[in-house]
Amino acid sequence: MKKVALFDVDEVLLEMWQPMIVAFNKYFKTHYTFKTFPIVVRDFDKNRDKYKDFAFYFMQSDLFGKLQARRGMKELIHQMQKQNYDLVVVTASSPLPTFAEKRRQNLETEFGPVFRKIHCVGSTDKTSVIRHYADQYDLSLFIDDHPYTVAQSVGVVTAPIWQDNIVRRPYLNKITKPMYIARHPTDILTIATHLEKQR
Ligand SMILES: [Mg+2]
Repeated sequence: MKKVALFDVDEVLLEMWQPMIVAFNKYFKTHYTFKTFPIVVRDFDKNRDKYKDFAFYFMQSDLFGKLQARRGMKELIHQMQKQNYDLVVVTASSPLPTFAEKRRQNLETEFGPVFRKIHCVGSTDKTSVIRHYADQYDLSLFIDDHPYTVAQSVGVVTAPIWQDNIVRRPYLNKITKPMYIARHPTDILTIATHLEKQR
């Protein structure tokens, strides 16, 4: 059986909020914490232009180039590799010319050269990349921390999986499509094993 796992990067493979909050406070001279930052994220989702300069600043920072693996992710990736999953990354793109290379280096430092392909694409193109893989494999998983993006993969992949994330939780209430929820990276493997048994 051909199996593929498609991963988002920020807040799925790599931890992003914490370093972003540090950069944000430095840039805007604010004092946000992990608890209060969701207010900023909600505003960002409505007024992206307002934060454009900050986004460039953050993406060019050393912090962004050295994001760390989320807890339990290295173990999950290692385990999935052992179980013959093809591992693919689907992440957002940026007009910055160094962006894709920075991402690749960051991912390779944290996980090793384990990913078959790293796609940096606009959010609307994520679904077409996911569809491309889902069509070629018997079993496909897609893991993202944004419920809206996961919702777009429902009916496309075998298992659309929302990686629980406190900042993104408010968005879940607006989703009616069925999706799996991973509270911890090990849940992803449990979902995968369950589906494999059904085939
Ligand atoms: Mg993400």
